[in-house]
Amino acid sequence: MKVLVYGAGVSGKGVAEVLQKAGNDVLVYTDAMNSFATSVEGVDLLVLSPGVSPEKEEVRLALSRGIKVVPEIEVAFARCSGRMAAITGTNGKTTTTTLVGEMLKTLGVPVKVAGNIGLSLSKETEELSADAWVAAELSSFQLETVQNFAPTISCVLNLTPDHLERHHTLENYYRAKRNICLQQRENQFAVLNYDDANIRSWAYDLRCRVCYFSRRMELPEGVFIRDGSFVVAWDGKEEIVCSVKDMKIFGPHNEENVLAAIAVAYLAGCRVTDLAKVIKNFQPVEHRLEYVRTLDGVRYYNDSKATNTDSAVKALEAFPDGHVILIAGGHDKLTDLRDFMGTIKKFVDVLILLGEAKARFLAAAKAEGVKNIYLVDSYDEAVALARKVAKKPQVVLLSPACSSYDMFSCFEERGKKFKELVQAL
Ligand code: ADP
Repeated sequence: MKVLVYGAGVSGKGVAEVLQKAGNDVLVYTDAMNSFATSVEGVDLLVLSPGVSPEKEEVRLALSRGIKVVPEIEVAFARCSGRMAAITGTNGKTTTTTLVGEMLKTLGVPVKVAGNIGLSLSKETEELSADAWVAAELSSFQLETVQNFAPTISCVLNLTPDHLERHHTLENYYRAKRNICLQQRENQFAVLNYDDANIRSWAYDLRCRVCYFSRRMELPEGVFIRDGSFVVAWDGKEEIVCSVKDMKIFGPHNEENVLAAIAVAYLAGCRVTDLAKVIKNFQPVEHRLEYVRTLDGVRYYNDSKATNTDSAVKALEAFPDGHVILIAGGHDKLTDLRDFMGTIKKFVDVLILLGEAKARFLAAAKAEGVKNIYLVDSYDEAVALARKVAKKPQVVLLSPACSSYDMFSCFEERGKKFKELVQAL
């Protein structure tokens, strides 16, 4: 078969390598090449990397020529002989996928963690035995055009506005996410967040069995919290996993991530005693509410991965006593700021703003009546200022609510810079 792979990132390169090894005639195309009409000549299949929008002219051209177009994860899924637990949501994907990976390892079978997390799904899922499990982190970009994708277990954490630059409308974004479970069959499972009315309602259109999780309600069936403990109620049996206090990661949003992970791993056959052990040992993934150090009684946290306002709100809510010195700003995603500023007013003592977004953030903060706002030009200044103003029991939190592209190449670089500066104080 002659295949054209569009995009040469981790996913594109990975799928090209796998398809080539399988004996196909594979060509990789990138936008720098400018010769799509020629490259696509005689091709049987066009594989899209997540970064390539299906609305692109090139993709339309391929479709108009009758060429089959599929996303990279569709190829990975079709070639994967193991079982797949696929996880999506606006926020919490990496944390939950990593946790699910750790839980699945207790089954004593081969386990791979891949996808949006930074490892090619196609490559990682190759040549797996039938008893193997794959914990796959999936983004809306990867799910947008799937047709036959049907993991053994799907999981949807939450949905809030994001990535409208690609999907245009919220409806399109939600539809892309819903593709994770739409093709699942009767013997498969969808783990859905009961507390999100939109996600909850998807159950009506699904053929697979639904397992809800809820942080707010005790459910007749599903995974929930009762008297401070995680509980699984499934197939007429109830089991207590462990206390919520046993978690090393913290905040209500992480309780949701743990509830979802428990549901996925339980359905995969993990024992609750093993799940409890994993939860007790699981530390935050780097740059996700990561503890950095304590200086003169002030704790410093790096949440550089909070690249949208919703995740920054969750980070603030993880400090229920408030008294946060918040460092925020970066590349502005231009979403509405009212909820974010409302939360800032409640939890934040001092707001330090920087980056491209600072003027708009400042105006929104003032409109909401936020006090003690400082504008700075660099991370050096921001950290030095935080050190100067912070007194015990305040905490210093970097949770930017913005992507990092105005000052850094990625959120990891931003988080590392913050940590270096804090360690140097
Ligand atoms: P993703 O891979 O979806 O970006 P991460 O696990 O990397 O998710 O977490 C990114 C940020 O999102 C975290 O720093 C935290 O502030 C926030 N977050 C994590 N889990 C949740 C959740 N369940 N709901 C809302 N926000 C969350």
